[in-house]
Parts: sequence; structure tokens; C-alpha cells
Amino acid sequence: MDTRSTNETMLGVMPVLFVGHGNPMNAITDNEFSRGWEEAAKTIPTPTAILCISAHWEAKGTFVTAMEKPRTIHDFGGFPDELYEVEYPAPGSPALASEVQEGVRLTHVEPDQAWGLDHGTWSVARRFYPEANVPIVQMSLDYTKPPRWHYDLARELAPLRSKGVLILGSGNIVHNLRLVDWHATEGLAWAQEANEKMKRLASTGDDQALINYHSLGKEVQLAVPTPEHYLPLLYALALREKGDNTSFFNEKPDLGSIFMTSVRIGRS
Ligand code: ZN
Repeated sequence: MDTRSTNETMLGVMPVLFVGHGNPMNAITDNEFSRGWEEAAKTIPTPTAILCISAHWEAKGTFVTAMEKPRTIHDFGGFPDELYEVEYPAPGSPALASEVQEGVRLTHVEPDQAWGLDHGTWSVARRFYPEANVPIVQMSLDYTKPPRWHYDLARELAPLRSKGVLILGSGNIVHNLRLVDWHATEGLAWAQEANEKMKRLASTGDDQALINYHSLGKEVQLAVPTPEHYLPLLYALALREKGDNTSFFNEKPDLGSIFMTSVRIGRS
């Protein structure tokens, strides 16, 4: 029996997610955001593997982690020891890394043996799959390329959805650390406006406007001062096909200038 076609029948076309990851402490804190991630995971069949595009792996060129055992990278500073002690021992998937390398035409995807799982990936994944039993591959963000290029690259990942792979973008659509307000109990006015505008465009399928986010006004410019936390959203939107529904979860601010808004794209 062909196990791949059996898997396809069982899993159908996998949903695609963009997850707002926010503060690394969400990895070990039981709060509305981490609970939202756990709830989202319950709506998805257990994937054969995860391909994660994290804001925290920028590179010149496009790489995929190709090791059997990716390390847990603690790529942040000034947090409690408890967070540095977290290990997330999910296996890698050299097979999926090869599949990505072979499937992408837009650029040469290179295998990587040095990276691992950064907190954009493991802080979310450990709430999704606490047993660390789903293999994970990360793909880097090429910082030399424009938004349209990232969108086009993501389109080439589409066949993975019918092979049981969960494609996960991890960033934040509103992410301005310079303007963080540690005492804010709600989103700053510009952050709320940007969040609403981007949600509206995402729900109406206006991907062109979101690719050209530089033209979306000053609120969005404040929300996206640098592209790396925003681009993973474009990967998710690019994978939306006819028949997919788009829904949102964790649509709340954190520290005034961050929104945790997350997007689920799927048939059901
Ligand atoms: Zn981040």
C-alpha cells in the first residue's frame, strides 16, 4: 500500500497557520495566548511534519534545517533562567528539507546544519505538541528579497499541504518593540488601527495590498518598522486556495505595540 496516498486520504489538505508569537515567556506561561495556541492545535489533524517560517531566522539566501536533531536556540536576552532551561527536542526531517529543496524553483534552497529551532518556532510548537513528537524543519527568511518575492516563494510550498505538512508562519503583524508600553492594558491607537486594517485586508483576500504594505499608511508603517515579523504572514496568505476559509484567533494586543493576531486558513 502506498502510505503517502493513505496519509493524504486521512489528512486531506492541511490548514495553514500564521501565529503571533510575541513575548518568549508565552512558551512557559499559561495565559490567553498560549491557551489560544493549544486550542488552535486541536482543530488540526496531527501533521506528518511542520515547516516553520520564523521571524527569527533571517539570512542572505534561503536555507532549510536539514539535521536529524535540531537544537533548541535561546535567542533572547534578559529572561528568567526557567526559559533558558527549556529544551524542545522535536526531531528534524531531512526528508522534508529535501522535498522543499526540490520543490522550490524560485531560488536555490540550501540545506543547513547549524541553525535549529529558534524561539519563534519552539515557543509555539511546545504548546501545540508538548510531546515534541512532530518533526520540524525551519526555512529562513532571505532579508535581501522584497515582500512580493516571499509571497511567490510561499506559493511553491503549496503541494506540501496535501502531504500532511503543517506550514506555520511565526511572527507578529503589529510588532514595534521601540514603542512597547509595559503598563498598557490595551493596544495603542495606531496599533489597533493597523491590526484592524490588516485583518480586514486578510479576510477579504486583498493580498496585493498586504504585499504592498508600505503603502498602507502611517499606522501600518509603525506596526511594521522592520519586515521580519510581518513576512511570515505573507507566507500563510500565499498558501490560501479556493475553498479555504480564513479565521482569526488571539486577536489581542500585548504591551500596547504588539498584536498577537493569528490566522488560520483551511477547508473547515
Ligand atoms: Zn519575535
